[in-house]
Order: sequence, then C-alpha cells, then structure tokens
Amino acid sequence: MLLNENSIAPNIPDCIDQLPNNSIQVVKNYIGGQFVEPLQKKYLINRNPATNEILAYIPRSMDEDVNLAVKAAKKAHLEGVWRRKTEQERSNVLMKIAAKLQENLDVLAALESNDNGKPVSLAKNIDIPRAVANFQFFAGAILHDSTGCHTTGMNSLNYTLRRPIGFNQQTFFFCTQKILNFCIGICGLITPWNLPLYLLTWKVAPALACGNTVVAKCSELTPLTCNFLAQICDQVEELPKGVINFVYGYGRECGNAIVSHPDVNLISFTGGTQTGRVVGSIASQGFKKLSLELGGKNSLLIMDDCNIDTAVTLAKRACFTNQGEICLCASRVLVQESIYDEFVDKFKKIVQSIKIGDPKDGNSEMGPLISLAHREKIEFYVELAKHEGGQILTGGERPIFENQEHLKQGAFYKPTVIANLSPTSRTSTEEIFGPVVVVHKFKTDEEALEIANNVKYGLCASLCTTNLNRAHKMSENLEVGIVWINTWLNRDLRTPFGGVKQSGVGREGGKYSLEFYSEEKNVCISLM
Ligand code: NAD
Repeated sequence: MLLNENSIAPNIPDCIDQLPNNSIQVVKNYIGGQFVEPLQKKYLINRNPATNEILAYIPRSMDEDVNLAVKAAKKAHLEGVWRRKTEQERSNVLMKIAAKLQENLDVLAALESNDNGKPVSLAKNIDIPRAVANFQFFAGAILHDSTGCHTTGMNSLNYTLRRPIGFNQQTFFFCTQKILNFCIGICGLITPWNLPLYLLTWKVAPALACGNTVVAKCSELTPLTCNFLAQICDQVEELPKGVINFVYGYGRECGNAIVSHPDVNLISFTGGTQTGRVVGSIASQGFKKLSLELGGKNSLLIMDDCNIDTAVTLAKRACFTNQGEICLCASRVLVQESIYDEFVDKFKKIVQSIKIGDPKDGNSEMGPLISLAHREKIEFYVELAKHEGGQILTGGERPIFENQEHLKQGAFYKPTVIANLSPTSRTSTEEIFGPVVVVHKFKTDEEALEIANNVKYGLCASLCTTNLNRAHKMSENLEVGIVWINTWLNRDLRTPFGGVKQSGVGREGGKYSLEFYSEEKNVCISLM
C-alpha cells in the first residue's frame, strides 16, 4: 500500500533531447511575433490522457528562451504602441481575438479534449465559450471603466489615473554612461492544466486590455489551445509584435525563469498551493505585484430543509464535472443527519450512473484524468482513505472498457464516494483534485460550519437550503472567497474571484482584474 506522499509520481511529462523524425506536431514558442524553436532544442512529450498516444512535442524552454521572450515584450513595451492605443482601439483588438476563437470553437474544443481528457461536449459548452467570453468581457470592461475623483473640501482635488504596469521611461545614468530602464512592467502569466484556455484567457485578456505586454506560460501538460491562441494573435495585425509572447516548458525551469526575471513586475499565477508558495517567495524578493489563485478543498453543505433531488443533481455536477479536476469542485459533502441516509443513497445511485468513457463520444460525462501520474495520486488517496477507516460507497477503482482497446492505456478512474471518515482525516482535508469525494454527517449548523472551516483552504463553498436566513448566516460564517446557494460554478465575470487562507492571495474578475493589471496613480491639485 502506498502511504507516503513522496512516493507519488510527479505529474510532469517526459523530455527528449532530439526531435524524432515523424509527422507528429511540433509546437514552438511564440516570441516577438515569430514561432521559434527552444534554443537548446529540447522538447517535452505531450500525450493524450485517454489513449496515452503522443499528440505533440512542445519546447522545453530554459532561462535563455524566457530571456528572449522578456526582451521582445520589453521592446514592445518601450516602443509603447500598444499602451498608447485608446481603450476603444484595444477593445477592438480583443473583440477580434474573441471572434476568431468563436469561429474555431469546434477545433479548439477537440484540441482541449484531446489534450486534457475532458469530454468534448464540456469543452464545447464551457471551456471555449468562456475563453471567448473572457476576451469579450474585458473588451467591454475597459470601455466602461472609470477611476476615482476625491475633492477635499474646497482645498484640493484628487483624481486617479489608471495606467499599464510599469513605466516606459529610459534613464541615462551619467556616472556609468548607461541607459537603464526602471520598472519595465511586463506581466508574467502562469496557468494550470485543468481549464487550459479558459484560465489562460482569464489572465491574457485583462492584461492586454490594460495596455500591458505579456509573457505567458500554460501548463506543460496542456499546450495545444495556447498554441492555437498564439496563431490567432499572430493573425491580428493591430496587435503589435512582442506585446504577447507564449513560452512552454517545465514549471521549475521555464515558469521559474518568468517569475524571477527582473523585468517582469507582475505575476498572475494559478496552480497548486505548494507551487504558489514558491512563486510567492520569489516574487516577493523583487516586490512584484502578485495574484495567486491556488488549491481548494471545498465543501458542499446539504441542509435538512433543501429539496433533496435538486441537491443530489447539484452534488453530482459540483463533485464530478471535468473529472473533479476544477479548483471549485466540491470534494467534501456535508449532509444533515435527518436526511443523510436518503441523500447518500440517491447520491450513490446518480454517481453510479455517470457515463465514463471516450471523451470524443458526445455521451461521455467523464473522461480520463490528466495523466497516468495523476491517477497514481488519486489511487494513493483512495488507499489512504481505506487505511483511515473510510468505506468506499462507490468507485474506488479503474473502469474496465470492453471492446475499446484504444482506451486501455488511458488514465481513467471511476467517480468515487467515501463515507465513515473523520472530517479531520487526511483524505478529508488534503486536496486530491480528482473524482474522489467524502461524505460527512452533521447535526447542527454550527457543526457544519466547524467541519467546513476546518481545512487550510478557503476557495469556495456551496449550500443547499430553502431557508434564506440560514443561507445568509452560513454565508457570513463560511471561511471562503465564494459562496454559492443552491447553485455551483455560476459565474458573473464582474464578481471578485479568489480564495482565502491557503487558497490564494488577491482577487481577479471585473474591476478587480483591471485594478490588478494596471497601476493607479493619484494626482492631487491644490485649489487654493
Ligand atoms: P501546478 O502548481 O503544478 O502548476 C501550475 C503552473 O505552474 C504550470 O504552468 C506549471 O508549469 C507552473 N509551475 C510549476 N512549478 C513552478 C515554479 N517553480 N515556478 C513557476 N511556475 C511553476 O498546478 P497544476 O497541477 O497545473 O494545477 C492543479 C492545481 O491548480 C490544483 O491545486 C488546483 O486547485 C489549482 N487551481 C486553482 C485554481 C484557482 O482559481 N484557485 C484554478 C485552477 C486550478
């Protein structure tokens, strides 16, 4: 039995030192408006998690590749063409990118599904439409933005300017006879594999809307829609070359080089809490502006006054959408004592009815996990749960595919529900990030809150109740950044998105993103 967390295989792709002579796609970095090979010509192997087949080779970029990308972004930044465009002009460019993404919805959905393993229907209905919406939303937001004006009696007037990050001032240093650029202000954007294009565009769109230049890195496990976005950006003439740059590679090499580069003054990172800790500590050395969207262990609270059938359907969606690989998925279901047996019985049945299979099949509700290594992590936690006294109500094993030879090497795992664990057990408090859910019984609202809050994370929580007062009281006391009442993943892009405790630092979305991806400067004028 695997009981040591360190024995879990790392969730990273293999590397090759030389490209093989075959017809498999080769992705290139997009730097300064050119598609270029990594300087050391090393590549990572990108696989389809449903079949384990090789989909593409992607650059294993090192410091020197990131340096080139930052140099290109710096040149574009200093030329200032993009930052000097009006809001309307930048908005038009964002709308053009959105339209091109929309035109290619089917192609992008297929790429995302092949790369990540998510059902193609999910990519078509959620991931790609949301990527389109991200560009459209920030194209609108930048037009409707306004900044503050404060009058101090009759004495003075303050107004606030919103400007891109950094300055484009070149300073001539007389003593060293050198031109130095201070506070260049390039945005470094780093994203995970679970919602590849959805989360990448959630950062790229507002960063561009605010007039910045960008170096972005998607997950090494899911590069294909990022590569497609690079091709789209390349076709948009009004977007000056070098404003957006995409590099690929391992986090500890390419990602680390972005975070530690002195000309990158803003870091927006979405990923695991442990990585966020490393990113945060490096960024703080350079006093960089920082947004961290990290892990979660989210509770779904089922109160005794709820409509049980509606709650069961919601629980299925909240726990198992995208194979449970969404930071916002519920992985702890807390059920009030008087309805526990009925709820758990119905929940178990609905989970057993989930169709797991080929993500290309329009009927599949769940595909494979992101990788074989990630499945090892899931299996480790299911073993741990048994060791901790948990009872597997359903799942807890790999599915067997009769007559579907091509799926036999895939990273599939059945949706799993575990009962009888202590709410303080490791299985119930550590982030598993897969289709594994624990159920707990509670008596009172106070006990439900105690269980829900007793984790180091604080991203979101959902509550099923028909009692409005109870909903307000519980929402007030849940230690999270987002509460959903009788709903889940219901997103209005204007609202603040982010977590508390070890789920993150800062908020993005709507005006919060505009504030983060810009510098606000107050100007005070004496009226005396
Ligand atoms: P991860 O932390 O392993 O990687 C995320 C990104 O960071 C990848 O691009 C990776 O290459 C890069 N990276 C890794 N090490 C780095 C380093 N030392 N320096 C710079 N970059 C580095 O996370 P993951 O496995 O890709 O994603 C899953 C995690 O992301 C889960 O914990 C999940 O909860 C979290 N997540 C959070 C949100 C949110 O909004 N809060 C959204 C999605 C996913």
